Amino acid sequence: MTNDAPHSVVSRLRAGHSAGITRPLSWRTSQLKALRALLVEGRPGLERALHEDLRKSPTEAWTTEIGFTLNEIDHTLKHLEGWLRPQKARVPATLQPARARIVREPLGVVLIISPWNYPVNLALAPLVGALAAGNCAVLKPSELAPATSAALARLVPKYLDTAAVAVVEGGVPETTALLEERFDHIFYTGSGGVGRVVMAAAARHLTPVALELGGKSPALVEPGVDLAATARRIVWGKFLNAGQTCVAPDYVLAIGATTARHLEAELTEAIGDMYGPDPKESSDYGRIVNDRHFERLTALLKDGRIVTGGEHDTAERYLAPTVLAEVDPDSSVMSEEIFGPVLPIVTVPDLDAAIAFINGRDKPLALYAFTAYDHTKARLAAETSSGALGFGLPAAHLAVPSLPFGGVGESGTGAYHGVHSLDTFSHRKAVLDKPLSPDTWSVAYPPFSRIKKTI
Ligand code: NAD
Repeated sequence: MTNDAPHSVVSRLRAGHSAGITRPLSWRTSQLKALRALLVEGRPGLERALHEDLRKSPTEAWTTEIGFTLNEIDHTLKHLEGWLRPQKARVPATLQPARARIVREPLGVVLIISPWNYPVNLALAPLVGALAAGNCAVLKPSELAPATSAALARLVPKYLDTAAVAVVEGGVPETTALLEERFDHIFYTGSGGVGRVVMAAAARHLTPVALELGGKSPALVEPGVDLAATARRIVWGKFLNAGQTCVAPDYVLAIGATTARHLEAELTEAIGDMYGPDPKESSDYGRIVNDRHFERLTALLKDGRIVTGGEHDTAERYLAPTVLAEVDPDSSVMSEEIFGPVLPIVTVPDLDAAIAFINGRDKPLALYAFTAYDHTKARLAAETSSGALGFGLPAAHLAVPSLPFGGVGESGTGAYHGVHSLDTFSHRKAVLDKPLSPDTWSVAYPPFSRIKKTI
């Protein structure tokens, strides 16, 4: 590893920031265009790395990682000048004459810690916001996607301003050393356990954090909806990247035993349609990231009746798309975030019970619902809390750049994408400008005995 010591990296970037290199709009747009070039020209290398780390197909690498990040860049380039324009604010009559505005200023040097499951997207999409807002950034990719981490460490200094952006590779020791440094913002994506470590480290310097975490996102299915179409949408969202997606439906919450029974057949059929009779042979189906996660996931197979799937191959870390029925709500598969290709179906008698089930657990990163009824949608919107709420399609809300992407409670704090990234990576400074003359403020000066009568 050729990493410089964290302290010297942060000092270098802080010097760049203090010199003001990141402030001009022209610098920000040139960096975003350079990041665009990195993705376009570096695409073959990134695709190879994603395949090596996760056996991602080139199509998935494009739609969920490279193309996704390009969209985020293009959206930002299109709107950045407008987003950076100072925003006028109303001044109350008592303070007139005066002008007020909100001005966005960069925070300084930020740290982006990213996970292994979408190792390009989850490193570079936050970087888009950090650069657009005029910050310097240290990027810490995940050691569990080593090929992608190495590709980013090679490409970033080749394309981006090295006085403002640095990649520090490594695992726990390197991240721990980085967290000793004082940053102006820490943007962390990963598990809640490490999120707590990051937040505690940030507290020492009063550094603000965004924590993009996970959790168990339910897919509620109500009678009356088209179950074949519903199953296709759930299977698409669940088995993408072999289920290793923070916004994947974690489990199905079926209302009524009949819905659950029909779903078993429809989910099985949808899996066959998308991945063929033997998903192991499908070039579109990924592998589990490492042995630890593979062992964790195969241990969950005992927590229900296997409707379809269950086959696994330790050498390849292959686990078939699996549906489990008759699952006990207190079993392991229903207690921890699955983060893999195992889809339990839990049955509840009615919508009230479904809402109570959701509200009885941690607030999820997303709640998905498949329903034919607007009143169900209204009740879910009003009576549950989640990072996002999706009707009819899982995961895709994160591809709408004008929507904030983030969690709530145990699924995280803070949000990003589009203008929301700018909000996260800027300070919104309040500016009040009141002329000294005429001195209309003299009414507020002591002696207060003079103004007593007016209040
Ligand atoms: P991970 O193991 O790759 O860890 C994430 C980052 O934390 C890595 O860069 C890693 O080096 C660092 N890290 C790990 N242990 C650390 C420690 N003790 N101290 C300091 N840094 C440490 O990723 P993960 O945690 O396995 O990611 C999976 C989780 O992330 C799931 O819960 C998933 O839902 C969540 N996730 C959330 C989002 C989102 O956008 N909300 C996206 C992807 C994943």
